[in-house]
Amino acid sequence: MIKKRVISEKLTLIYTACFPYKKQQTSSHKYKVTIGIGGNVGDVLRRFNHLFFKLRDDVRVEVLETSPILKNPPFGYMEQDDFLNSVMVLATSMQPKQFLDYLMRLEKRFSRKRSFSNAPRTLDLDILFFDDRRIDTKSLKVPHPDWMNRESVVIPLSSISR
Ligand code: ADP
Ligand code: MG
Repeated sequence: MIKKRVISEKLTLIYTACFPYKKQQTSSHKYKVTIGIGGNVGDVLRRFNHLFFKLRDDVRVEVLETSPILKNPPFGYMEQDDFLNSVMVLATSMQPKQFLDYLMRLEKRFSRKRSFSNAPRTLDLDILFFDDRRIDTKSLKVPHPDWMNRESVVIPLSSISR
């Protein structure tokens, strides 16, 4: 069952079986990681559900919480469909770079092709926060440099409680 709540002319919140979600128990993994997920090609809702179950069944991560899904207009390159975005809180014992590689492999599995910046995509996985770490390397910047300027992050994040 999918429920929708229109919050403005351009923004709609979507509620599905896995978004939002909250696990009651705490985790034995070392780190708490908040990721942003997004996509605007094909059946993104179905892909998000598929991702949720893939993560839930993977012993290397634990899904602690997810936000509702926000439907929102593209930015940068405008000639493309609206995006769906959500935020997931995971626990893992992987180190940050290892975790980034893990996310990039997942993107590939979900058949993401990299073309140009802000291009349409099947699945984008970004690390927003990794515990309270600050990382500034070529391949990884944490917290994600732009998170507070994006409705696609700030609105879903506002419903997250841990
Ligand atoms: P964007 O998410 O900005 O649209 P991409 O998904 O194509 O762009 O990411 C390009 C690169 O961004 C990745 O190869 C990765 O090395 C780098 N990157 C830097 N910081 C992060 C982060 N916090 N989360 C995810 N990727 C990051
Ligand atoms: Mg990305």
